[in-house]
Amino acid sequence: MYCSKCGHENPDDYNFCKNCGHDLSHAKAPHTKSVPNYMAFSIIMIFLCLPFGIAGLVYSLKVDEFLMQGDTEAAKAASDKARKLDIIGLIVLGALICIPFIIALISLIFIVPAIPFNIIVH
Ligand SMILES: [Zn+2]
Repeated sequence: MYCSKCGHENPDDYNFCKNCGHDLSHAKAPHTKSVPNYMAFSIIMIFLCLPFGIAGLVYSLKVDEFLMQGDTEAAKAASDKARKLDIIGLIVLGALICIPFIIALISLIFIVPAIPFNIIVH
């Protein structure tokens, strides 16, 4: 890899630049851990919507497992599934919260005007 400070080419296993001593470990870290595991998102979803949170967490854990094995492609696939499960969980949760409001709104629009006015007054 090339040093980000002086541009000197160093062997990939070097943590410090041979030429200027610049710390190269920071440049390496994002490369090996570039796949997000959505762990925090999955844990939040466990509290909000248990089934999707657990499914998301399983894939979040798999991301780290695949990364440790060096299988970046599998880690990316698991990361994608974790994100999708967490988002689907959010949508389902949103729908569950909205349904009573939608029912209330529909009944206000269609049922309330059908009730004779004098029943409400008396
Ligand atoms: Zn350097």
